[in-house]
Amino acid sequence: MTESGGWQNDGGRMMSVPVLVGERWVVPTVSAWGSVFNPSLGEEIARVPMCGAAEVEVAVQAAAAAFTTWSKTAAPARAAKMFAFKAQLESHFEELAALITRENGKTLEEARGDVRRGIEVVDFACGISHLCKGETLPQVADGIDGVTMREPIGVCAGITPFNFPAMVPLWMFPIAIACGNTFILKPSEKVPLTAVRLAELFLEAGLPPGVLNIVHGGREAVDALLEHPGIAAISFVGSTRVAEHVYVIGCRHGKRVQAAGGAKNVMIVMPDADLDATTRAIMGAAFGCAGQRCMAGSILMGVGDAAPQVRDRLAAAIDKLVIGDTSANPKADMGPVIDSASRERILRSIELGVAEGAALVRGGQHESQSRGFFVSPTLFDQASPGMHIAREEIFGPVLTMLRPRDLDEAIAWANRNPYGNGAVIFTNSGGAARQFAREVQCGMVGVNVGVPAPMAAFAFSGWNRSFFGDLHVQGIEGVMFYTRQKIVLSRWDNAYRRTQGW
Ligand code: NAD
Repeated sequence: MTESGGWQNDGGRMMSVPVLVGERWVVPTVSAWGSVFNPSLGEEIARVPMCGAAEVEVAVQAAAAAFTTWSKTAAPARAAKMFAFKAQLESHFEELAALITRENGKTLEEARGDVRRGIEVVDFACGISHLCKGETLPQVADGIDGVTMREPIGVCAGITPFNFPAMVPLWMFPIAIACGNTFILKPSEKVPLTAVRLAELFLEAGLPPGVLNIVHGGREAVDALLEHPGIAAISFVGSTRVAEHVYVIGCRHGKRVQAAGGAKNVMIVMPDADLDATTRAIMGAAFGCAGQRCMAGSILMGVGDAAPQVRDRLAAAIDKLVIGDTSANPKADMGPVIDSASRERILRSIELGVAEGAALVRGGQHESQSRGFFVSPTLFDQASPGMHIAREEIFGPVLTMLRPRDLDEAIAWANRNPYGNGAVIFTNSGGAARQFAREVQCGMVGVNVGVPAPMAAFAFSGWNRSFFGDLHVQGIEGVMFYTRQKIVLSRWDNAYRRTQGW
């Protein structure tokens, strides 16, 4: 590895993104490099080293060395680092949001939400002294007291996707580190810049060297993390295909694994719904972040009269959407997708929808006014549950409308979906909402809420093929994932009492 002392200007042309091992920012000597783009412009803005086993080895050594001291650091002292990190994030809030917009392409407003949701997890981790407390049962047996304690598990690793460059890494490492673990983050190679900046801010907040490390890359780096005997736990967020791979290989190597995958989230509109509020919520859920959210609403089920009404309102709202360069145009409502491969994949899905006979109401094409990776917001109607566009995660600005007979049929269709992140209903009927919440087979349910978004105080409860593992990210489940329980049974005879003849 070459010591860089920070960012490396490679021959005066392109920024090379460094890894973080211990206290050193280093540009590793690797044979393969990836490209980081500004998706609004379709321009390469940095190059990222595609790390492998050698770089992972160095990071594990740094994290393991730091674990010896960090795991013994008092809980309030660990919490103090979280408070300082939170202050750093608040004071660099706008800078982080702008960086996310630059490398991911989402609007500035969406990028602010990305940072804010992440800060809320740091806020949660500030309470670690309380969150890590155990339980006691005096006299669990005659003369014996029982106490439980939660202890850190060692070096943990996190592998994250491109769509939330700040929030998803922040779901993981603040809680893991607050619990007394050390951490290796492998951010998406498509958006490594935000992760690097988060780590810089944490170090500036006084985090000891080696507690947080960063490596970059794709499958090779991930497999090295999954197979390394020095890593105790893996947190993964990304597509279902890779989540399953991470779960299987990580478990085979004796690690605890939490692996969150893709989704196909359903939105049901009942005839009694408030259609103006519902249309606004659906527009945000379907086209926010250009549809690149694991909680994006991508299937719309209009029940009865709701179907034609909501379709017409959505078509009118789509016509008003401003699509454009999110770095330059603060009025843009929707930005590009992440790269040209995503754009081509989304356009192919749209072609399949047309070929299978769904009615294309709006969109369907590449937005040609720019060199960026744009796809126009697309609405299909009259689709059927077996079609590609109703079954597969498209991960782009494509909304597919089905017309179930009634709520029973809508729930039955929703439950044929193999994923299980989220589903929402729009209605004014408590009975319909209750039936839906009880019968729908997924972990995050919304009632008159477009996106039942993950909140730091709760776990993000994906089900079915949207999650592999047991304990989910965030909330108390996150604390349990990053700690293991010790049960101490103690018998203390009172020797002094005996010597006194009591
Ligand atoms: P992805 O699965 O392609 O990549 C995720 C991570 O895995 C990245 O760090 C990437 O480098 C790595 N990776 C990619 N291919 C790999 C391989 N073959 N072997 C090992 N590692 C590999 O996902 P993405 O395109 O970055 O993100 C979009 C996906 O993430 C969507 O499916 C979306 O639904 C999902 N997602 C899920 C959640 C959730 O909480 N369930 C949240 C955000 C995104």
